[in-house]
Amino acid sequence: MKEAEHYFYQKAYCEGKNEREKWIPELIEDMRKEGIEHKVLDDLQKKASSYGYKRSNSIFFHELIEHYLKIERKSEIHVIIDSMWFGLWDSTEKKNAAVYNQVFFDDSILVQFSTELEILMRKVTEIFCTVDLYELMLDNCLPENLINQMVEIEIHDIENEEEERGVIEYLFQLPEEIYRFYNMIFSNAFKGACAFVLFHEVGHKLEVNSEIAKYFGIESSTQTTDSHRKDMMKEWNADNISIQILIKMFGGNDATDWMFYSGILIAFMALAINSHSLFEDTNHPALKNRYREAKNVIDKQLSKFDSESIEYRLNIVGDKLNKVAKWGGKKWWVMKE
Ligand SMILES: [Zn+2]
Repeated sequence: MKEAEHYFYQKAYCEGKNEREKWIPELIEDMRKEGIEHKVLDDLQKKASSYGYKRSNSIFFHELIEHYLKIERKSEIHVIIDSMWFGLWDSTEKKNAAVYNQVFFDDSILVQFSTELEILMRKVTEIFCTVDLYELMLDNCLPENLINQMVEIEIHDIENEEEERGVIEYLFQLPEEIYRFYNMIFSNAFKGACAFVLFHEVGHKLEVNSEIAKYFGIESSTQTTDSHRKDMMKEWNADNISIQILIKMFGGNDATDWMFYSGILIAFMALAINSHSLFEDTNHPALKNRYREAKNVIDKQLSKFDSESIEYRLNIVGDKLNKVAKWGGKKWWVMKE
């Protein structure tokens, strides 16, 4: 066991924090006790036990990291990522995700990710997928009020953390192939959103190594002595590395890559809603500028048609979020200037 992992569980225990992902094995057990049997449960259990939570208490994060390590050839990167432990937990702090500066005796590194951010990203992804259905509505005779009701519930769920209604029963009313389409966009976009935040944190540890920085075609923030410039560079570099990793992992599949890339932009929207200090002075570059920069890089990967349709859909999502997000009375989402 890595010291970072040990520390994570100890800290979670001392501070009385939940780390919900560990509930998965318990949940499977409970469901079996109640006599519920399903292939999905078997698969989940197999995964949970075979990986033994080696890299994270989240099976999902563990898989993303393994996926990247399988395709990355640079050994210095393997060494750094191998020393990391990714902890997902309920955080009462304002932090969304962070790398710990604490030095552990075995040189392991703790990366922390809040469950709240993960849930918020899931909710924004749900609206994005529902908005996608508007376009299919006319061709497939979907009733418009069904989709409108779904959006209404999804907005409600973002506004009210405590009482989530969910749209699952509405999804079951959709024709089979539309339901499958919705699910495909959802799982790819959600994976893209989580992977972006995860590899942004990884990027913080990679970019301070000047050789690795060169490998990613960027200048390490260690090259500057100006502290403001350094802080800004750290963030730009972490975003840049994360997007390059995602392109490596998910790019090149014409049918699905736009879904992953949408996930990156969805992550920014969720971060914007979750950030309590959006209009305060910060040493971080503005989220809006980071969003724009990410969009520029993504546009180069996609056809004009795909990038325009992503933008069109995200504008609808942003418009809806503007109505509920508490952004100090200001509208964050004004992309058409
Ligand atoms: Zn950062």
